[in-house]
Amino acid sequence: MPAHTMPARTTPPPRQRPAPRALPPPVQLAKPGKAVGFRTPLGPRRMKANEPAMRFASLTSAACRKEVVARKLPVSFDKKGYGKVGLPVRITGPMHGVTIRTAPKSSKYGVLDCRLALAFELMAEVLAQHGVRELRIGNIYRPGAQIRGQRTKSQHSHALAADVSAFVNAKGKVIPVEGNWGAAIRDLPCGPKAVMKSKSADARLLRDAVCDLSRRGVFHHILTPSANHDHRNHFHFDIARKSKNRFMK
Ligand SMILES: [Zn+2]
Repeated sequence: MPAHTMPARTTPPPRQRPAPRALPPPVQLAKPGKAVGFRTPLGPRRMKANEPAMRFASLTSAACRKEVVARKLPVSFDKKGYGKVGLPVRITGPMHGVTIRTAPKSSKYGVLDCRLALAFELMAEVLAQHGVRELRIGNIYRPGAQIRGQRTKSQHSHALAADVSAFVNAKGKVIPVEGNWGAAIRDLPCGPKAVMKSKSADARLLRDAVCDLSRRGVFHHILTPSANHDHRNHFHFDIARKSKNRFMK
């Protein structure tokens, strides 16, 4: 539409410096073609307020719904209520060319919270840069799920966590997490001192991609097969309202 027909601006332009309690600005998505390797440092453990996971976790349900709609994300809002899930949605199509395979519509395990859907979009963009074309998720929502050995509720109980069992590369090859990690329990996964015992390109792809997700602050907590025996066959990714930590184990 020509400029002279634009409606007059009635609201003042946004201030240069946001008010102290204002939300950080929308996440700038990753720059294309900037995939880096797992030995690149992760950055400080304390996350900055403008890192993606911090911002996603701080959104209200209403603000999240608005952002999902504005970004035209392929998600549907699930009208059913699911316990402690703030705003339940389901993935209905690929994001940035990456298929995100969740449990089918008949299953509650494919439900995710709206805030996690925003993290998924950024995750898909990063994974696409690493040549991943599909992500296989075992489960997301697990009502009442607790962290093993603790009384704390797992982020799965809020549908803010996903367990990923495999990536599929650009050639369509399925790369399961199990058997393609290349490090033992308690080995350091990322950074200059990371342990990598495998020379396979598949293991390298998983490692580079997962470390990049942590580095870019897409999630608060990432658990890999180096965390413990429970995670030998999947990656755990979550965002958490109360956390300010970048946790990669
Ligand atoms: Zn998990």
